[in-house]
Amino acid sequence: MRISDILAQRQSYSYEIFPPKGQMSVDQAAEVVDQLVQNHPDWISVTFSAGGSGNSQNTFAIAGDIARRGTQALAHLTCMGATRQDVDGYVEQVRLHGVQNVLALRGDRIPGRDVRDFAHASDLVAYLKQLDPDLCVGGACYPEGHVECESLRQDIEHLKAKQDAGVDFLVTQLFFDNDDFYRFRERCDRARIKVPIVAGIMPFTSVKQIQRMAFNCGASIPAKVVKRLVRAGDSKEAQAAAGIEYACQQLVDLAANGVDGLHIYSMNKPAIGKATHDALVDCGYLQN
Ligand code: FAD
Repeated sequence: MRISDILAQRQSYSYEIFPPKGQMSVDQAAEVVDQLVQNHPDWISVTFSAGGSGNSQNTFAIAGDIARRGTQALAHLTCMGATRQDVDGYVEQVRLHGVQNVLALRGDRIPGRDVRDFAHASDLVAYLKQLDPDLCVGGACYPEGHVECESLRQDIEHLKAKQDAGVDFLVTQLFFDNDDFYRFRERCDRARIKVPIVAGIMPFTSVKQIQRMAFNCGASIPAKVVKRLVRAGDSKEAQAAAGIEYACQQLVDLAANGVDGLHIYSMNKPAIGKATHDALVDCGYLQN
């Protein structure tokens, strides 16, 4: 099923996982998927060479495994340094594995890797739509603006170009202040960006991790998050518990404010899937 069809029917609930590194990666991912599917997500997305890791050869196999279990799969695809031929090959893999949904991304800039046939994600969206009109194509968006972009206004103009290229839905970068998301949603509305916008939430797991996130993707860390981390002290367990509790509060607030969908950056941790699922059942967003 196409994710755009799901979003036309209901508010969604989904997870992101990444392919574990090394030889056992498909089996390890299958164990994570086994546990996540018990929470009945609408789809599970699988990253592609995230952070320039080069960890992409298993993306399609893992997405295919998810699809075979009857859960929709969303395969990420990046185009930084890719040729049209490369993308043709990726799409063949996507089809071979019975996957109907792709998240079209530019990918992080990697030193030494130049732009080839695709400068921006919108170029990839347009190419994919022309290559296979049946593919459901999602894209990324940034409530606080993309780190490389000089102004939020420009970033929204570029996002509008992604919609004009044919993107079917958007998934946000992580954010820790829901007001950033609500302001972004209003700006999209004013710019006539009408495709569904799924909010992406990542629980912080430690002081180090949240600092890395803030630096890598430009997400700001509000004082209320800093205070929670200070209260958690040096205990890694307490920091991670504070992160899950905070993410659940964000999700419940988003659910109450008419979000199109909620996407959980699970970091391959089934406990994050379970905690967020239970919080959304308790508040009535999810039925089971
Ligand atoms: P684009 O939409 O191309 O935007 C990148 C920058 O270019 C922005 O600053 C934008 O404003 C600007 N821009 C866009 N169009 C134009 C134009 N026409 N002229 C001038 N400037 C323009 N990375 C991975 O490597 N693998 C993954 O699996 C992955 N998954 C992700 C999932 C989500 C939900 C998100 C939000 C991000 C993910 N990323 C992933 C990270 C992403 O690849 C980076 O954030 C990357 O820097 C930008 O990708 P994009 O698709 O948003 O690019």
